[in-house]
Amino acid sequence: MTSEEVLKILGEKDVILRGHFQLSSGRHSDTYLQCAVVCQYPDVTNALARELAIPYQRSEVDVVITPAIGGIILGYAMAQILGCRMVFAEREGRKLSLRRGFSIKAGEKVLVVEDVVTTGGTIKEIIDVVKGYGGEVVGVASLIDRSEDEVFEKPFHSLVKIKIKSYSSEDCPLCKRGIPISIPGSRGIIK
Ligand SMILES: [Zn+2]
Repeated sequence: MTSEEVLKILGEKDVILRGHFQLSSGRHSDTYLQCAVVCQYPDVTNALARELAIPYQRSEVDVVITPAIGGIILGYAMAQILGCRMVFAEREGRKLSLRRGFSIKAGEKVLVVEDVVTTGGTIKEIIDVVKGYGGEVVGVASLIDRSEDEVFEKPFHSLVKIKIKSYSSEDCPLCKRGIPISIPGSRGIIK
């Protein structure tokens, strides 16, 4: 699957929205990614997961770990393809941790999976969780990479790289043109 083919799928499934959005950071953008919508379709999710899993087929992954909630479905699909276990980390207060009886054994090879990587902050926290158990991170895999630069010390693989321009509300050209803004995503709805 080429990155053009992946982009076509993500466009058709409304993962990539164009318009005028306030991001969770408060900044404005003409593009918004809502990755969860593609996971409504198990066949599409599995096809993307198969593609994302290719570099890890021979690396004997013992466990896939994802941050809740965004990465869970994709991580589960990846684990099924790689024939390994899957756990997710969730926030207890501010701290990401494994709960619900999930654990990683010392020396286990761990693949970190995420749907979208932006700053890489959550992934770095996940890597620390794995290290805390004595696990070995073999790589980081993400469906979409929208980061600005190289963000991890670990090998990073994504299916597509998308650059999204964002503006402060004062400098937003879409605001200047009077285009109505929407606040997508769960954080916007909860407010
Ligand atoms: Zn704006």
